[in-house]
Amino acid sequence: MPRYKTLEPTAAFWSWRDDAACIGHEDLFFSLEEEAKGERREKEERAKRVCMTCPVLGSCRAFALETKELYGVWGGLTEAERHRIAGRHRTG
Ligand code: SF4
Repeated sequence: MPRYKTLEPTAAFWSWRDDAACIGHEDLFFSLEEEAKGERREKEERAKRVCMTCPVLGSCRAFALETKELYGVWGGLTEAERHRIAGRHRTG
């Protein structure tokens, strides 16, 4: 039977998130499908401004890029920006 490597979060694994500037602002960082593009862009810009004040931006960005996080603003990068960095094309 094949064995699959799975992410197993530990306290240390997630510890950088304790200092996240986005705690309490989670709604800003993820958009719903039904949100208009203009509304989504405005939320993304507001979220990115929060990221610019965040003491763990580097750890967050590295995590999102390494784990190929698909959704939301992470480490000051939008979904579209991370897709571009990864060389992927966004369809939605
Ligand atoms: S960089 Fe942005 S998304 Fe990442 S923890 Fe900080 S505020 Fe949250």
